[in-house]
Amino acid sequence: MSMRIGYGFDSHAFKAGVPLVIGGLPIEHHEGLAGHSDGDVLLHAITDALLGAVSAGDIGTFFPPSDLRWKNADSSIFLRTALEEIAVAGYRIVNIDTVLVLAAPKIGPIAGELRERVAELLGVKPGEVGIKAKTPEGLNQDHVAVAHATVLLESATSPEQLTKMTATAELPEEMDEIATGSVGKKRSLSALGRKIPAFDTDDLT
Ligand code: MG
Repeated sequence: MSMRIGYGFDSHAFKAGVPLVIGGLPIEHHEGLAGHSDGDVLLHAITDALLGAVSAGDIGTFFPPSDLRWKNADSSIFLRTALEEIAVAGYRIVNIDTVLVLAAPKIGPIAGELRERVAELLGVKPGEVGIKAKTPEGLNQDHVAVAHATVLLESATSPEQLTKMTATAELPEEMDEIATGSVGKKRSLSALGRKIPAFDTDDLT
């Protein structure tokens, strides 16, 4: 069985007047995260970890911030595209681990809910998702949210598994067209062992 590891990182500044969404979960807070999309720092880090695990580029490759279509976009769209990439490459998630670094709000009280939401979006069990949070002691980053994510993948051994994973990763038809349009051609181009599109690492998503 073949295994692959991926790592992702992201950061967003807090900004007044926008809703806070982390890991696909709306969180009650007096400010949200600034970004071209919804600023979901955790989903962005996980998306990059998944794409990195199958050498499929990064979030900016698929969803360049220069593209107005991704303004205020729901970041679960990015995640689904990454899930499609790993499915096309023939892999499934073994487990994922994450660290959030932010001064506020406190993640502890909602960590369970957050874990369930991320697991739901990934199509895995909550026990396969780690959510940890740290305060940025000594980093002078009190107005920034940072996320790190690592993911372990294993090769999907049966056609049934692969079919199931692809089904999980399916986008609504309209979103699929938009996502496909964003890279010009079929996204599977960048899957493991295939031609990788030009990188756009200027990621402000
Ligand atoms: Mg981002």
